[in-house]
Amino acid sequence: MKAAVIYDQEDLRIEEVPTPTAEPGKVILEGGFNGICGSDLHFYYEPEETAAPTGWKLHEPAELTGAQWPQIFGHEFSGTVTAVGEGVSKVKVGDDVAVFPYHFCGRCEACLSGRPNLCERMAFEGIQGRSGGMAEVKIVDEDMCFVLPEGISLELGALVEPMAVAFHGVMQSKPQDAKCALVLGGGPIGVGAFFALRSLGIEHIIVSEPSADRRETLARIGVEHLIDPVSQSVPEAVREINGGVGSDVVIDCAGAPVAFQGAVDALKMGGRLVVIAGYAKPVTFNPGTLGGSKSISNSMTYTPEDFQHVLDGMAAGNYTTEGGWISKIGLDDVESAIHQLRTGSGMKILVDVSAS
Ligand SMILES: [Zn+2]
Ligand SMILES: [Zn+2]
Repeated sequence: MKAAVIYDQEDLRIEEVPTPTAEPGKVILEGGFNGICGSDLHFYYEPEETAAPTGWKLHEPAELTGAQWPQIFGHEFSGTVTAVGEGVSKVKVGDDVAVFPYHFCGRCEACLSGRPNLCERMAFEGIQGRSGGMAEVKIVDEDMCFVLPEGISLELGALVEPMAVAFHGVMQSKPQDAKCALVLGGGPIGVGAFFALRSLGIEHIIVSEPSADRRETLARIGVEHLIDPVSQSVPEAVREINGGVGSDVVIDCAGAPVAFQGAVDALKMGGRLVVIAGYAKPVTFNPGTLGGSKSISNSMTYTPEDFQHVLDGMAAGNYTTEGGWISKIGLDDVESAIHQLRTGSGMKILVDVSAS
């Protein structure tokens, strides 16, 4: 079968690899889609030390999977079950599934306290796993398969993972009573944050995004309040929209040092800023501006429960691939798509891995 295999920095090869077959407890998936995400760009372009901020050693076997690079790339994926191994009961042949892509140990302090998203031994399929999404055929653990609800496409299935990243961050901001929410950065995670916030019925959802192209796309998806942070003061614009009051919550999906102080200033008293984005560079900001009991926290990945919440939200119609924020390519075009995303053009690119 054909797969996109990452060997090293800027060394991604489309090549023939052995096709996996069913084994006890494992599921074989064919076709479906794989999303290219910001962390894939880090892995592709950056040296190992900075690409994996959690200290993963990509060229040494991961403790939980034994896998190391070269690695079939891609951790945001869906597929159709074409075979199941002995003992598999959660899915059956013909099911369309989204793959929960990371392994966790179940015995570290984080896992034992119900936060596998902080597991110190975490290992992702598509980063340091046996399988990866950019392949015509995948082999995954039964437990990693989440059956797509009736009517949910394989495209949406590949989006569950990044939407779960956004959902986890939004829920960490405790948005339940919020009247106003500001999202920094209208890329795919920002879009996911918007969908999650909208499903909670928040009155004013504002997205700050410097790219005019992206703002147009966001308007088509249904974002009512769009700010250009280059020409507008974000804190002022937020207060104008929200009747003179700052935002209850801010979800940072941008990772732009220049925008950070404005995000803090856009909060109301007691407001909560959750940082989902990665920051390559340090930020200059004055902790004194947190006065008024504002808080900042970081959100990392998601739990299996978040994954299910997003699937339920998809079934309820809270997510869409419409509006032009999704584009699709074939396996042969993965590398050029990575180059394109680096220039900041485009939104979410899904790789169609159906056998050609
Ligand atoms: Zn991702
Ligand atoms: Zn653990």
